[in-house]
Amino acid sequence: MRPAYALIDLSALRHNYRLAKRLTGCNALAVVKANAYGHGALECAAALNEDADGFAVAAIEEALALREAGHRQPIVLLEGWFEAAELELICRHDLWPVVHHHGQLADLREANLSRPLQVWLKLDSGMHRTGFSPVEYPQIWRELQASNKVASLTKITHFARADEPETGRTEEQLETFAQATAGLDGPASLSNSAGVLAWPSAYGDWVRPGIMLYGSSPFDFAQEQAAQLRPVMQLDSRVIAVHNIAAGEPIGYGSRFVTRRASRIGVVAMGYADGYPRHAPDGTPVLVDGQRTCISGRVSMDMLTVDLTGLPGSGLGSHVRLWGDGLDAGEVASHAGTISYQLFCNLNRVPRRYQ
Ligand code: PLP
Repeated sequence: MRPAYALIDLSALRHNYRLAKRLTGCNALAVVKANAYGHGALECAAALNEDADGFAVAAIEEALALREAGHRQPIVLLEGWFEAAELELICRHDLWPVVHHHGQLADLREANLSRPLQVWLKLDSGMHRTGFSPVEYPQIWRELQASNKVASLTKITHFARADEPETGRTEEQLETFAQATAGLDGPASLSNSAGVLAWPSAYGDWVRPGIMLYGSSPFDFAQEQAAQLRPVMQLDSRVIAVHNIAAGEPIGYGSRFVTRRASRIGVVAMGYADGYPRHAPDGTPVLVDGQRTCISGRVSMDMLTVDLTGLPGSGLGSHVRLWGDGLDAGEVASHAGTISYQLFCNLNRVPRRYQ
């Protein structure tokens, strides 16, 4: 068997969820969209089932899979994408849709529902992706409040830059939220992981932690609360070949990397078909038998090459960690010009093992 796999530590997942609860004291929706950011939605939801106040997903299909697996908690459809014909399905499975544009309001007005819906009404407080404007929001809220199609209303907004506390943008969004929702009675939900970790003034009633559940920090700097997270995914493999290469020799496709000294190069069973980023440059860190070294040569489909020169004890069969405990996925991501979210979501082919 190919030695590449992702080991998913479900006790770390529970630890991280409980941290979100402990920090905020709020109800917390475990965000398990996109297959739980590549960690396996059904496995993660099952591991959190005892604790989770609710789940959040992007698509109806993701929500239905959770219902089929027996989860009875609230499930919020974050992306709020649905057709008029799907409203009854949403209703029947007691899914909580985010409503964020006028087309949905029109569908709701005309819908014939077997019971009223729990609606999360989205305010665009400044991210300008989805949501009603602050000017129209109060009127829409009141209309829905009076509607017999709506059982309850929750205010929701989303932050654009909560991971960059110095920008002042989150304060502005909080202010817009406070003004637009003044006098509108009902629970509120504002915070993603960065909000949970760094913005106590944005806790509201429901928080929506995603990336922090998987043990990765949303910040690109050391942050006190984020330091308490435990990585959930260990992406591991082994060295499957070792070559002694003279100085000045090119390695791999495009001859991108040229040895500067006589080198011992290890070939690792992990490539971009597994989801490892092809654009990871030379110098991207990896751990070989727990020792830090780096990628040397272009990542190919099934393999990548690492520098083993001077690494004591390393060789054929050595354990390689691409990210996880001891090597932060966020650090690997920043070398590759992306974020840990994308690394996790892009995982492909490698089997997931749960512990
Ligand atoms: N809330 C909404 C509306 C989202 O779109 C997301 C993620 O994309 C989250 C919460 C979770 O964000 P994070 O993973 O940064 O915690």
